[in-house]
Amino acid sequence: MVGAKKTYNFCSGPAMLPEDVLLKAQAELLNYQNQGDSVMALSHRSDAFLEILAQAQQRLAALLDLPDHYRILFMQGGASAQFSAVPLNLRQNNLPIGFLDSGYWSQKALEEAQKYAEVDVIASSQSSGYLKAIEQADYQLSKPLSYLHYTPNETIDGNAFYCIPNNQLPNGQEVPLVADMSSCILSEPIDVSRFGVIYAGAQKNIGPAGLAIVIVREDLLARSQQNQQAMPRLLNYATVVEQNSMANTPPTFAIYMANLVFQWLQQQGGLEVIQQRNQAKAELLYQAIDSSRLFVNNVEKNHRSKMNVPFSSQNAELDAKFAEQAQQQGLISLQGHRSKGGLRASIYNAMPYQGVEALVQFMKSFENQYV
Ligand code: PMP
Repeated sequence: MVGAKKTYNFCSGPAMLPEDVLLKAQAELLNYQNQGDSVMALSHRSDAFLEILAQAQQRLAALLDLPDHYRILFMQGGASAQFSAVPLNLRQNNLPIGFLDSGYWSQKALEEAQKYAEVDVIASSQSSGYLKAIEQADYQLSKPLSYLHYTPNETIDGNAFYCIPNNQLPNGQEVPLVADMSSCILSEPIDVSRFGVIYAGAQKNIGPAGLAIVIVREDLLARSQQNQQAMPRLLNYATVVEQNSMANTPPTFAIYMANLVFQWLQQQGGLEVIQQRNQAKAELLYQAIDSSRLFVNNVEKNHRSKMNVPFSSQNAELDAKFAEQAQQQGLISLQGHRSKGGLRASIYNAMPYQGVEALVQFMKSFENQYV
């Protein structure tokens, strides 16, 4: 938290934002660059806001090393609206939609998609209790699909893919790959050219809740055009591209904040530097869990998420006590998701190494007290 007592927020989202970003927003809040009013009250058609939007697009493109044939869209409704938008835009010729099911959010995306098209679960790690993601060897695509959807980082289950899944048919053709990157976007460099669509809710690594970032390969916009009449206008990618993300009043403040976060990431040295920091934080925390006499994390080691780390003492009362005492020490929001219980530390880009050190220290003192 800025100003008062130092706290570290481990919430899975809305998550902590870099302190420098919050301070800049605070300094500009009442009078944005001498415009005479807050950025929240600027017309979305004003030059000042159009400049913010253009900067946000350019900075994100630079961070991702975005190839020219991709478009960046700012949309509303978080990632869940994209669970509907993706099938409505990309469904094609009655072809099924393929899903790699690696956890809670894969399931949510799948449940929504099957309202609009046939879905085909190509591989699932459900039988492992979602203690792993999916490996290349777990499946082979055998028939055409509208697209193949997966969740590279499962925010609740705490598992992650460590390579981009195979989207090739036996004849060598590729089906478009769609990724819900809500909880891992901008945490490391990615090869965007491997994807048809990438989407992410903003409230973890990008900015305030409500905004979703969508990255679409240009050729897929033809499908959006074909499907235009049979879907909500605000969810149609071709319309949003045509209107430069202003098909209605956009979430201007969230876009302003995202732009500041993109600038901050560039100032840190870009995604390679961020990746190294995230690796160091995750190593520190997993090492503490693995050497603990109290806490466990059962996710397969090579599938462990670097962003969301579930752990537990395997005693619900003790877990609750831990979360409560941690909160009193300024280590906020460590309780696990309501569907799963236990504990979880989300350690996105804005979480400093010192925050994880403080958590590890507290885990040790708690362990000494209760074991
Ligand atoms: N996908 C993933 C991977 C998520 O972690 C979340 C939110 N935690 C969602 C989708 C849903 O996001 P939203 O609440 O923005 O709709």
